Amino acid sequence: MTEAEFVSSDKIKAALGGRNVYIVTDSNVAELYSDLFFSVRCTVIDAGEHSKNLYTVGGIIADMVRCGCDRKTTVIAVGGGVVGDTAGYAAASFMRGVDWINVPTTLLAMVDSGIGGKTGVDVGGYKNVAGAFHMPKRVLICTEFLRTLPEREWLCGCGEMIKHALLDENIFRATFPAIDKLIARDGETADKLIVMSARYKESVVKADFKEGGLRKRLNVGHTVGHAAEKLDDFRLSHGEYVALGIIAEMSMFRERISADYFDKAVGMARAVCSNGFPRLKAEDITEAAKGDKKNADGKIVVMLPTGGGNVEEIALAPEEFKERLASCLSDL
Ligand code: ADP
Ligand code: ZN
Repeated sequence: MTEAEFVSSDKIKAALGGRNVYIVTDSNVAELYSDLFFSVRCTVIDAGEHSKNLYTVGGIIADMVRCGCDRKTTVIAVGGGVVGDTAGYAAASFMRGVDWINVPTTLLAMVDSGIGGKTGVDVGGYKNVAGAFHMPKRVLICTEFLRTLPEREWLCGCGEMIKHALLDENIFRATFPAIDKLIARDGETADKLIVMSARYKESVVKADFKEGGLRKRLNVGHTVGHAAEKLDDFRLSHGEYVALGIIAEMSMFRERISADYFDKAVGMARAVCSNGFPRLKAEDITEAAKGDKKNADGKIVVMLPTGGGNVEEIALAPEEFKERLASCLSDL
């Protein structure tokens, strides 16, 4: 398991200027950080999820061949989750696998998607169905990149950071009093919490290789979150739906959680997503949640944080899921 290194922009420049490297980035990052991309061996993919496909991977690999890359070439991904997933997959495939370095430039990629060695692309409208576990040799996190990150992408990362706070008591203690500063992008606060959040994700990934199943707790907020995201046509960022999912799922099982913990946890999630819950019907959310990959035996699974970093796995019949959701939906 690669441990992320927290570095300054000089270290990023040095890595990108290394011998026998091939860089992949996206159009937004290339424009904002043009000084970084002096190397001629570079693919700039169109920014956005639509680029996460096999054609892009093919384009990267073809260009690597044209540029004379070989088995010793190191691919460096500089960008958000789309660049990391796509370039990582190209690195996993090129000549049956070459080394790669991940340089995440979004908050989400720094604390979540950029950690764990999952690479892959969407095929035929299905997300991440072609992929490989291909651990990057290095993960270089430079939080200076975040200065240019749009607000929506910032909140996206904050949603997953709140989730990590519910999974780990130390992170909770550090995040709860600092939530407004984090949302307001206070540099010192954010830097400290980003390290904690990234390290937490690393620890879960590392433990899961041996224990199995631990990664499941990362699905807190995602049962309702994913369903709402699909039904709402991705209007908000993924992390905002996770925050909304946390509010909804904790409200559905309020009787299992202390009032104090509920108020604090939901308060943090609301700070991330102040828009309120989208106008969706409990029936539709239930229908969408039925397709969740965590489910088994026709039941819908919710991972419920109950305080102190504990998570309860609750499997319930779709009818009960719908009733519980319907009874709290109007208060969300
Ligand atoms: P994510 O990391 O959220 O999974 P993307 O890779 O799609 O997703 O990145 C989200 C958006 O943020 C893209 O439009 C990308 O070009 C842009 N982006 C990535 N890093 C930065 C940055 N440091 N500053 C500004 N925009 C960025
Ligand atoms: Zn997520």
